[in-house]
Amino acid sequence: MAGTRAGLEGRQHTHLLLPHAALDAPQRGLFESALRPAGWTIDPDDSSSMSLRWNRGRAALRLQTLGWFPLLVTVGPIGKATAVHRDAAARLTAAVLAGRGMNFTDQQLVEYLPQAQARWQRALMERRRLSTAERLLRARRCSYCASWSDTSATHCAGCRRRFTVADDTEWNTTVSRATATVAEAEAILADLARGVVLERLTGASHG
Ligand SMILES: [Zn+2]
Repeated sequence: MAGTRAGLEGRQHTHLLLPHAALDAPQRGLFESALRPAGWTIDPDDSSSMSLRWNRGRAALRLQTLGWFPLLVTVGPIGKATAVHRDAAARLTAAVLAGRGMNFTDQQLVEYLPQAQARWQRALMERRRLSTAERLLRARRCSYCASWSDTSATHCAGCRRRFTVADDTEWNTTVSRATATVAEAEAILADLARGVVLERLTGASHG
C-alpha cells in the first residue's frame, strides 16, 4: 500500500515537450481544447507569455514554460493535487502526444534542461543572424560613406555619388550571401523548434 501511495503522490507535476518554438496561439489552443471539456476555464488575469492558469471550481492548475525550441512546459496543481488535477494532466498529456509531442519524467527533465538552455542560446544566435541578413536585404550600404540607401537607388543617399559597376557587383554578392544566410537561419530555427538535436544541426545546413 505504501508503494501505491508513494506512486500516486510522487508526481505532482507533468512535463511536456511540444515540437514548436514557443507558447504561441496554436499551443495555447491545444491546451485549451484539452481542458475546456472537463470544465476548466482559463484565468486571463494570471496568464503571460510564459505561463497559463486554469480554474475548475476551487481547483487551480498552472502551466509554466521551462524551455523553447522546442517548447517545454511543466503543469501542476496550485495547492494540493486532487483527482481533477490528475485528470487534467492526463488530458494535456494525451493532447500533446497526439500533437507529436513527448511526456518527460522528472529525471529526463533534469537531464534535458541544460540542453534546453543551449538550444535557446543557439536560437538567439540564429535570430540575430537572420535579422542582420534581412537588414542587408532591405537597404544597400555605401562602401564610401557607410550610409544606407534604397535598394533601387542609383545614387547614395549620404554622399550623393553614383553607384559604380564595382558597387553593383559588391551589392549583388551581398544580396546572394544574405539570401543564403536567411534561408539557412530559418531552416535551423525550424529544426530547433522541431527538436532536431544540436549535434545534427550544423551538418544539416543546406547552404
Ligand atoms: Zn555614400
